[in-house]
Amino acid sequence: MNIILVGIQGSGKGTQAKFLSKKFKLCHISTGNLLRNITGDRKKEIDSLINNGKLVPDKTILEILKERMIQDDCENGIILDGFPRNIEQAKLLEKELNIQKVIEIQISDQESEKRLMGRISCPKCGIDYNIYTAPKPQKEGFCDKCGSQLTRRKDDNEESIKKRIKTYHEETKPILNYYKNKLITVNGEQSIEDVSKEILKKISNSPL
Ligand code: AMP
Repeated sequence: MNIILVGIQGSGKGTQAKFLSKKFKLCHISTGNLLRNITGDRKKEIDSLINNGKLVPDKTILEILKERMIQDDCENGIILDGFPRNIEQAKLLEKELNIQKVIEIQISDQESEKRLMGRISCPKCGIDYNIYTAPKPQKEGFCDKCGSQLTRRKDDNEESIKKRIKTYHEETKPILNYYKNKLITVNGEQSIEDVSKEILKKISNSPL
């Protein structure tokens, strides 16, 4: 089974992708994480695009994604988190992977802004926290798991957040219509556990 998670920034795609990847033994690929961890010649240009709230060129991200998708842990299926981000990417993906389900996690623009302004994460183990919503770290500013100091993403600043929300509406949202026959929509403005439950219920109610 291959699944795409779609949702505006901060909707909880990463959190739900982690849950689903465990549940169905699928490989979780976050294109944002792949890009943030890139090394070598491409790093400078990619960092600058990310920090300015711009999308990385389709050809570049597809190349990076293809390298990841052929690894052994992807044999059982993949959950894509952050890809495709536009129709062109959806068309390119079609040549590479057979998608069974597309899950849209819906939250409002106001909620997205609030979550991104409060988002902090652990640079060491990658756990995400939120100072306004959930989950909050037990000790303010420090990771519950490893105790490292939590940091904000460079692109989680007001200017970049506004640009990314605009890009989501203009470029990413049209892919929902592209995938209308495979689409499941869930309410992302409920607890993390309830979002997971809604996803599982809707997956089991709709034929593959
Ligand atoms: P994310 O972690 O999904 O919010 O992604 C962070 C940033 O990585 C985005 O704002 C883009 O600059 C870049 N990025 C992630 N996925 C893609 C994609 N599919 N296409 C182009 N750029 C992407």
